[in-house]
Amino acid sequence: MAVEVEPAAEAQALYDETFENYKEYVNPPLARVMKLSGSPLEISAHGTTIVDHNGKAYLDFAGGYGVFTLGHGHPRVVAAVKAQLDSIALSGKTMFNAALGRLAKRLAEITPGDLRYSFFANSGTEAVEGALKLAKAATGRKKIVATYDAFHGKTLAALSVSGREAFQERFRPLFEHVVHVPFGDADALGRALMDAACFIVEPIQGEGGVNVPPPGYLARARELCDRYGALLVADEVQTGLGRCGALFACEFDGVVPDVMTLAKGLSGGVIPIGAYVARPDAWNAAYAKAPLLHTSTFGGSEIACVAALAALDVLFEENLVENARVRGAQLLAGARALAARSPEVVAEVRGRGLLVGVELAHEGYAGTIIPEMLKAGVTAAWTLNQQRVIRLEPPLIVGEEEVGRALGALAGAVDVARTKLGTLAR
Ligand code: PLP
Repeated sequence: MAVEVEPAAEAQALYDETFENYKEYVNPPLARVMKLSGSPLEISAHGTTIVDHNGKAYLDFAGGYGVFTLGHGHPRVVAAVKAQLDSIALSGKTMFNAALGRLAKRLAEITPGDLRYSFFANSGTEAVEGALKLAKAATGRKKIVATYDAFHGKTLAALSVSGREAFQERFRPLFEHVVHVPFGDADALGRALMDAACFIVEPIQGEGGVNVPPPGYLARARELCDRYGALLVADEVQTGLGRCGALFACEFDGVVPDVMTLAKGLSGGVIPIGAYVARPDAWNAAYAKAPLLHTSTFGGSEIACVAALAALDVLFEENLVENARVRGAQLLAGARALAARSPEVVAEVRGRGLLVGVELAHEGYAGTIIPEMLKAGVTAAWTLNQQRVIRLEPPLIVGEEEVGRALGALAGAVDVARTKLGTLAR
């Protein structure tokens, strides 16, 4: 006789199987940490909501670290990908690819100034690798200037220009001729730029703990790069495409970089993509005589490009950049009010649009606050370079009630952390 299995038992069995697989075949310490912090198993996701193996719904304020700008599985993007699958999914590379051409044209239209030529890859770090190579090839120079606390990815060149020692030390020697300067300090940049191929910078540092530079910093960087003949590479992998309440964060300073990198939200969170967009002078200096100097087998596939084209349509038609600005102001104000009420736990709140960092008075609080928020049905995440900063980075479609709910979960989690841990010495 067949034994009927309870759905709850089935769900638990799937969780147990996945945990075992992670522990045995993926990453044993990570598996244990995730289990200890109460990470469930994701089963499905739509809009701002992720559903776990127990059927519990979570409001997604980690947002895939910025990937889910349109929420999960936006129907327009999913439909575009499904339709594309029936004709051609991946580019064979020997023939023209209409979707790639259209996406490059669209990016040239929406990016600032004369940014024009696009190269497509599959991730943010690859976009950064491409941008750095372009800068070296265009200028014939070796030195690259980057900022402390930056995060540009974890492949070797991108890691070399990132700014967290813990991620770098085991891989030394890294890329040579990289000089780091403090983020936001234009004078220090000026002293470092002589003979540099480029300055690579996030307009707002995301993984460094959501650091917003002083107004005018990027404009000064632009002037200095021009003075020293270095290219300005704006890494908008996380800040771009509406995240910060402007289409691109470099627009806050009215700056046109020589190269802009994009990824995360570009294809609407359905298919991986990465891209850099370059101004003609920079691109021509690097590649006019060598069009195959930088290539990618999977980059620029039809499915990724149609996803990106649909995602850009949704971004504009649903007015999501403006929503990011308005809901971001609500989130920032609410989190700052919480910081004012609980300064012994929340030291500072920073951000722009829907990229908000909650800096805790001690990193020990994060290990309680994030799991407590999860229990309350809201996801949040650390920033990769700053364990003391929790990021709130919901989809740009988030509504007023949802922001209120996330703030409530954060406030509740801060209370639990205070009660459980008391005041931790800084
Ligand atoms: N650049 C920035 C600004 C990022 O925030 C990230 C990832 O968080 C990257 C590059 C690397 O992107 P990926 O993880 O897709 O390689």
